[in-house]
Amino acid sequence: MNQKQTSASYPLLPLRGMLVFPHMVTPLEVGRARSIQALEKAMLGDQRIVVAAQLDTAVEEPGPEDIYTFGTVCQIKQLLKMPEGQTRILVEGLERVELVEFDDSDDFFLVSIQEWPSIERELDSEAEALMRSSLQKFEDYVKLGRKIPSEVLANVSGIKDPEQLVDTIAGQLALAVEERQPLLEIRSVKERYIKLLALLTKELEILKLEKKIQGKVRKQMERAQKEYYLREQIKAIQSELGEKEDRSTEVDEYRKKLSETKIPKAVREKAENELNRFERMPPMAAESVVVRSYLDWLLALPWNRRTKDRLDIQMAETILERDHYGLAKVKERILEFLAVRQLTKTMKGPILCLVGPPGVGKTSLAKSVAEALKRNFVRLSLGGVRDEAEIRGHRRTYVGALPGKIIQSMKTAGSNNPVILFDEVDKLANDFRGDPSSALLEVLDPEQNNAFVDHYIELPFDLSRVLFITTANVLNTVPPALRDRMEVIEIPGYTEHEKLEIAKRHLWRKQVEAHGLAWEQISISDNALLRIINEYTREAGVRNLERELAAICRKSAADVVKGDKDQIRVSANMLERFLGIPRYHYAVAEREDRVGVATGLAYTQFGGDILSIEVTIVKGKGKLTLTGKLGDVMQESAQTAVSYVRSRAEALGIDPDFHEKHDIHMHVPEGAVPKDGPSAGITIAVALVSALANIPVRQGLAMTGEITLRGRVLGIGGLKEKLLAAHRAGLKQILIPEENRKDLEEVPENVRRKLEIFQVDHMDHVLRLALLKDPNLGSDMSVLADSELAKHTDPLWEKHQ
Ligand code: ADP
Repeated sequence: MNQKQTSASYPLLPLRGMLVFPHMVTPLEVGRARSIQALEKAMLGDQRIVVAAQLDTAVEEPGPEDIYTFGTVCQIKQLLKMPEGQTRILVEGLERVELVEFDDSDDFFLVSIQEWPSIERELDSEAEALMRSSLQKFEDYVKLGRKIPSEVLANVSGIKDPEQLVDTIAGQLALAVEERQPLLEIRSVKERYIKLLALLTKELEILKLEKKIQGKVRKQMERAQKEYYLREQIKAIQSELGEKEDRSTEVDEYRKKLSETKIPKAVREKAENELNRFERMPPMAAESVVVRSYLDWLLALPWNRRTKDRLDIQMAETILERDHYGLAKVKERILEFLAVRQLTKTMKGPILCLVGPPGVGKTSLAKSVAEALKRNFVRLSLGGVRDEAEIRGHRRTYVGALPGKIIQSMKTAGSNNPVILFDEVDKLANDFRGDPSSALLEVLDPEQNNAFVDHYIELPFDLSRVLFITTANVLNTVPPALRDRMEVIEIPGYTEHEKLEIAKRHLWRKQVEAHGLAWEQISISDNALLRIINEYTREAGVRNLERELAAICRKSAADVVKGDKDQIRVSANMLERFLGIPRYHYAVAEREDRVGVATGLAYTQFGGDILSIEVTIVKGKGKLTLTGKLGDVMQESAQTAVSYVRSRAEALGIDPDFHEKHDIHMHVPEGAVPKDGPSAGITIAVALVSALANIPVRQGLAMTGEITLRGRVLGIGGLKEKLLAAHRAGLKQILIPEENRKDLEEVPENVRRKLEIFQVDHMDHVLRLALLKDPNLGSDMSVLADSELAKHTDPLWEKHQ
């Protein structure tokens, strides 16, 4: 059928954004001039009109191509002219039609139409099923809140005709024209139902989703409101209770501090997380204390704060000289160390380790280094640190957890490039709680310490700019791995003369000022100082000396305040008034020649010291008793000495069977102080021979040396310290092993000059020098008599003949 049969023609009313279905009564607003013309034409005839939707609502004067080909013939039921040229009509959809031809010879379109009657419109069970589910869905659709009045629902459910029902529902859907247009064009009623159901289903889903989203939004709004309300209440309660702790102002303060402090990004993020957590915590929660102190720590650490280095070796030298007397070699080494660092521009490299007895100025040297570099200084004592957590901190989950000593020092320092002094690395202990030295190793390792993680802080801290300096009293207890990292500078003890100078130039001045005394008010004589050095202190360093001077200043200050005196001159014979009776005797304990007592020299962590060894022989069965807390090595040394004496008994004029008929008791006084080492060997042997042969040992003489079974004298360590101690103790003659000749260079000139030093390599020489009478030495002695050594010893020997 090529040619379409047109049944009639009607004026056209193009619709924008809406459709009219058959069976539907609806009002329409008409405004456009052409449409009003069309209406007027229709009113003149049978009051029927064709309505069809525009494809594009924006087109003001649509042509045939702008209008859908299918529309509805409507009966105009009412027409109302409104002011301003508007016309309102009420139309009823009659039937679907196809728009076939447009005639615009008038001022409006007159369209010829072709009928488009529905098919498959009978009410069979299929239709019924379709009707029922459509109704059901439409009901849901209405309930979900498209603004359709419920009367409409009641009317719709009363419709029995399948076609009428589908068209009525289609007419009610608030959908876009292009979605509903197919419902007008589909001829089969059943297919129309299927299309309608599809549309309804989709629409319902969207509606449900919308509802859900809205519900969520509402809930969130409600919660926020509720929280706000509760918070306000808490605030009100708190202010009512007079509690000034207002969490939000506290949080604000932290926020402000956080924004003002320069910290790395990772730290900032962590701090913000904690702060958010803090904000949500109930104000009284115990944990809020933990979080607060954690935040305080994060904010207090010098993450980015750094001081500017002064790189001026000249200045460093001036400062070292200003604060320290003597120590020429030590200062030179320190300056070299600083120069290398300055040249290499890095702080990587070995760590300086100052080794020496207490009070020799290790701490104060390190302080001077810091001052020379213009860096902050922190001292951290490692003595007795036995727990890794002391270095590295406790996890925050522990009650009362704190960061470790390293992080604490960084906080104290206030900059990330201070000088940190690790005091007493030789006193690190370790036990089941982990090894603190391994943590320390990490801290000191330039490869690892740029990201040191403390258990408490949990964030890596860069320690690579810190200049670490360590101190130790003795090197042999420093963990070997740690020792490998360090550049050791040894500081021996001071001589009497050096101490005097240090006291005069530094200590005295420091104490006078520290006690608020004027320089003219008080003075001290050299003799008084020497007496303090020798009779009130016995030490390698000057710590006690400084303490005694402090005591004098303190008492003098009291005198001045009381108004007793306004000028004080401290002289040697006034010391007892200030310091009590002398604690030490200037000379060695032995002031007279005695049998069975010999003086040795020891090397301890406090520097050198003197040591007297006593031997008594009583009748018995050859038992050897050793007392005075002697270590294993010293006991073996004693046994060696005994064996040597037995093997040489005859030559020494001693009863060869002495060891069977007598018990030997050997004692080293100051019994409670542990002693060890092989260097007392020859001293033990001398005391033993003296006791057995009943010949006194020369007073004022001391000796040091290891003994072998055959009587050879072997070298010892710490010669310098031992000679200083001997000098300090007022000893005059010293026997040292030949092997130690090379070490004599290190001994200060003025000490060497004051001592008569004999180098010995065999016990025979030792005995000849140490005993007052020749103990009938064997024939082999004559061989040695001509040796240089024997010659050297002669004057001494003769003097006492
Ligand atoms: P250490 O750390 O070796 O135990 P300190 O550095 O604490 O010793 O020294 C103790 C005191 O002695 C300090 O007041 C120090 O200034 C002073 N002192 C030590 N050696 C010297 C020295 N060579 N010159 C000046 N003062 C010294």
